[in-house]
Amino acid sequence: EIRLAGLRKSFGDLEVLRGIDLEVTKGQVVCVIGPSGSGKSTLLRCVNLLEQPSAGTVTVGGVELTDPDADLDRERRRIGMVFQQFNLFGHLSVLDNVALPQRRVLGTDRATAERVARDNLARVGLADKASAFPAQLSGGQQQRAAIARALAMGPEVMLFDEPTSALDPELVGDVLAVMRSLAEEGMTMLVVTHEMSFAREVADRVVFMDGGHVVEDGPARQVIGDPRHERTRGFLARVL
Ligand code: ATP
Ligand code: MG
Repeated sequence: EIRLAGLRKSFGDLEVLRGIDLEVTKGQVVCVIGPSGSGKSTLLRCVNLLEQPSAGTVTVGGVELTDPDADLDRERRRIGMVFQQFNLFGHLSVLDNVALPQRRVLGTDRATAERVARDNLARVGLADKASAFPAQLSGGQQQRAAIARALAMGPEVMLFDEPTSALDPELVGDVLAVMRSLAEEGMTMLVVTHEMSFAREVADRVVFMDGGHVVEDGPARQVIGDPRHERTRGFLARVL
């Protein structure tokens, strides 16, 4: 599970996160929505300490990552992250893109890493693309390869930062379908997204952020269908 308590983050004079309390219990899917600049990406990056919070605590699977004694290299392996930009290595095959991090970071032997890579490529519907290079794939296939790469590390939780925002509309559905099946398998997921139908159908909870605050946090259908707060209503009126 993921637990954020009193989380704050400033860049110089700009306070981007102003005291965030948020919990994603094991097996839950929580979607974060909100206007541009509201701090969604910063929040996600604080969960795996890609950004060092200015205050507050981040706990994942019972281990406090903000504890100065935490072994961040070890703890980060339990957290998979998928970005808007897929960041695949262009000079490596899809199989190697998925297998190499296991070998480099986990010390997995080549045969095992490649078997795990193939299993996870099959999981995202790319079994037949193992020997292709990223440039030979569509954007949606590249994003699914990036998801396979994260899954191959055996994460306990997955963070997604607008994973479909860079895709042509016709490619979005395949990526969302992979995320939906992950959710159905019981993966703990924190997802920043503009895909309101995904949020409504897949998320257990939706969190609306604005100005570095969690303005509203509730069951997906309620927050999207019947928001309590004026700011949530205004945002949804613009995006729906
Ligand atoms: P979007 O929907 O556009 O992706 P967001 O909600 O993800 O927006 P963030 O990327 O978290 O927003 O940014 C929140 C604020 O923090 C913005 O004002 C941004 O300019 C600022 N910010 C983010 N990262 C940094 C940084 N490394 N240094 C300085 N300011 C930053
Ligand atoms: Mg962002």
